[in-house]
Amino acid sequence: MALYTSLVSRLLFPVHERFKRHNTVALRRQMEEVQWWPADRLAAFQLQRLRDLLQDAATHVPYYRDLFARLGFDAASIGSTADLQRLPFLTKPVIRANTDALRHVQAQGLSRFNTGGSSGEPLVFFIGKKRVSHDVAAKWRATRWWGVDIGDPEIVVWGSPIELAKQDHFKHWRDKLLRTQLLPAFEMSETKLDQFIATIRRVKPRMLFGYPSALTHIARHAEKRGVRMTDLGIKVAFVTSERLYDEQRNTISQVFGCRVANGYGGRDAGFIAHECPAGSMHLTADDAVVEIVNDAGQVQPPGVAGEIVVTHLSTNDFPFIRYRTGDIGILGATPCSCGRGLPLLQDIQGRSTDFVTAADGTVMHGLSLIYILRDLPGVKAFKVVQESRELTRVLLVREQGFAPDGAAKIISGFRQRLGADVSVNVEFVDKIPAEKSGKFRYIISHA
Ligand SMILES: [Zn+2]
Repeated sequence: MALYTSLVSRLLFPVHERFKRHNTVALRRQMEEVQWWPADRLAAFQLQRLRDLLQDAATHVPYYRDLFARLGFDAASIGSTADLQRLPFLTKPVIRANTDALRHVQAQGLSRFNTGGSSGEPLVFFIGKKRVSHDVAAKWRATRWWGVDIGDPEIVVWGSPIELAKQDHFKHWRDKLLRTQLLPAFEMSETKLDQFIATIRRVKPRMLFGYPSALTHIARHAEKRGVRMTDLGIKVAFVTSERLYDEQRNTISQVFGCRVANGYGGRDAGFIAHECPAGSMHLTADDAVVEIVNDAGQVQPPGVAGEIVVTHLSTNDFPFIRYRTGDIGILGATPCSCGRGLPLLQDIQGRSTDFVTAADGTVMHGLSLIYILRDLPGVKAFKVVQESRELTRVLLVREQGFAPDGAAKIISGFRQRLGADVSVNVEFVDKIPAEKSGKFRYIISHA
């Protein structure tokens, strides 16, 4: 390990985490031990953590206190994770209707989050420090599976305006120390792409991190320009947030001369699964119970596709118990050849987001439009259909709190990104029509 990386990983990052009151370092060490435990020992550990979470919720979280009382559910008595099936699902409407009652009565220092989610329905929820520490530690563990570490030079291609707005003084220095450089994923004009490639060549990162679509886009551009990227020493490209297609994996891998590691999770559900170098997606089973359910809500065995339902075991401050993610996945049945006991997610579908194209031909990530809608109050659900470069339709289900100038804000926000002269039609509807697959496809791109 390079000297500087070692300094960051062993000293600077731990100090940073302590400063933020996260006990990430001790957690990561523990998680690195747990990952090698045999399946039965891991299952017992998971069950004990589940019992602790449910008992805490029964005592300190008004929503669960009332729910358990109504159901006659005794949290202390659960004998296996299958007992979770006696509880109803936590859905986005349930969270919306019970946001205050879902908070732990002793919770302190909660962060408020707002996510679009894959269904296009905005959601407000809270995250406590315990949950943050566990997610950071889980990500850190998975990073180290690939022979890289926090502190190695990294290029991050990301685009949440929230993240970008946080580029304050502290974050600036933190990123400098951790040797992380951010490239805005929503600005993908030819000129920007040329700059991105130059930056990557200059930085010579050991790892890349970003949306698969964005990294593929940069890779294709480098290919088109005939710029070689295989000589930089990039070891791995971490991708997340979207479905990873085989051709994207191949393109990123060939152009950057590195392996591609897929990750699955979100602000809402947490750090749920990550690929290991042997090619399997390992569930963060020490931190989450993952169930796969069919349309009727019945739990499915390994090998059968269904919706991914997550109980995150570190969410005491704002419990996510049987949270319906809206994503489709399949549990694996066989252990991984790498020897880790963490069970497998055999396949993960869903979360497909396309690019949209501005009037001048600039290709942007679809999320750049979604964020405009997500941040408006009173937006219950939406679907964006880019009919052509000149016309974009926004189907919108309103709820209380939608301002009279909401539509005007959408139109001006979209025009800022797509071009001043494009037509943006905002159409108010009662329900978003589902796609054939049963999932929403909120962007249809006509590049
Ligand atoms: Zn493995």
